[in-house]
Amino acid sequence: AQLAVGILREKGEDKRVAMTPENVKMLLSKGFGSVVVESGAGSKAGYSDAMYVEAGATVGDAYAADIVAGIGAPNPKSLRKGTATISMVRPGSNKELVKAFQDAGVASLALDCVPRISRAQVFDVLSSQANIAGYRAVIEAAEHLPRFFSGQVTAAGRVPPAKVLVIGGGVAGLAAVQTAKNLGAIVRCFDTRPEVREQVESLGGEFLELPPEVMAEAGGGGGGYAKEMSKAFLDAEMALFAKQAREVDVVITTALIPGKKAPQLILAEHVAALKRGSVTVDLAAEAGGNIATTQPGKVITTDNGVTCIGYTDLPSRMAPQSSTLFGNNATKFLLSLEPPKASRPADGAAAFGLNLDDEVTRGALVTLDGQVMWPAPPPPSM
Ligand code: NAD
Repeated sequence: AQLAVGILREKGEDKRVAMTPENVKMLLSKGFGSVVVESGAGSKAGYSDAMYVEAGATVGDAYAADIVAGIGAPNPKSLRKGTATISMVRPGSNKELVKAFQDAGVASLALDCVPRISRAQVFDVLSSQANIAGYRAVIEAAEHLPRFFSGQVTAAGRVPPAKVLVIGGGVAGLAAVQTAKNLGAIVRCFDTRPEVREQVESLGGEFLELPPEVMAEAGGGGGGYAKEMSKAFLDAEMALFAKQAREVDVVITTALIPGKKAPQLILAEHVAALKRGSVTVDLAAEAGGNIATTQPGKVITTDNGVTCIGYTDLPSRMAPQSSTLFGNNATKFLLSLEPPKASRPADGAAAFGLNLDDEVTRGALVTLDGQVMWPAPPPPSM
């Protein structure tokens, strides 16, 4: 039988949906047998049930499908043995979920674990969503900042441009640099990976310096990801930010280390040194926060009049756009696994024929046939 794909309605506050009606059309045109979407799955992202039906899906029980797709992980208890799931999993910090997938006997694939090699960029949900978060962080900051980003010379007086400090120049940080720059601000950025300098400068930002003897420790942790830094490094970094705090109007932090708690880089005393009316946005809020005053999910104002934004749902605040990009990532990943064939010996994941020799598939695989498969062994070349 041809394989069925199910699209879940996200639980909780997330307004996004894992696949759009356009994605449904693509799956059906490329050989999937059917798509079933949970009623209301796309409604908060601007995609009605009728739009899915028009694209060729049916509305019903997504868990009845062979491959169940979500942004958040599906409920393992609702999955049928031998089926497959594709979602965010974060297996490093979700051991119980991994165990539940194992017990359910499903093939679970984590879009957040796709290796970051060039061939897999089209599947990279972390990048597509981080790009949106970085943009939105600046927009949220602008909403709360009681002044222009751009400098202005008017008959009523001269206004200098706002100064924005972006900490962490990964995908989200670079998107924030670009957005703040486009709004006319003076933008500074710091990252522990020295290669970020060129990217920041090409966007018109200034890369902040640490003394060369401190920077000697810098560098990536492999695969384009950061590594955990020493206390001496973090102390030097904080001294740099303490000086910056007296100058800047907006601080946007994006410093994350995969699988670890986010480093705290802006202490309460730094926030206290910011000007009244300044804004901080902490994109690491969910991972423990880079800023001492961040309250995850909330906007608070400190005693010295600094607005601290801790939203953990920035991509969801642009749900039509983030769903389109997430859906494209997820759909292309699904289509890359193996072309579904009409005549398969068995139903479900077994029929899906996952190619475990493929570095991308193997990297994303969390559980299979009652076994935990994550983390994947390093490829032979490493
Ligand atoms: P991330 O969200 O894990 O981390 C954000 C940034 O925080 C990183 O740039 C990191 O170096 C930085 N950081 C960590 N600790 C810090 C500290 N103490 N001070 C300052 N900065 C700190 O990273 P990300 O955006 O997901 O990805 C990072 C990089 O990976 C990208 O910029 C890119 O170069 C690479 N990448 C490659 C691919 C690919 O080749 N397919 C895909 C995506 C990303």
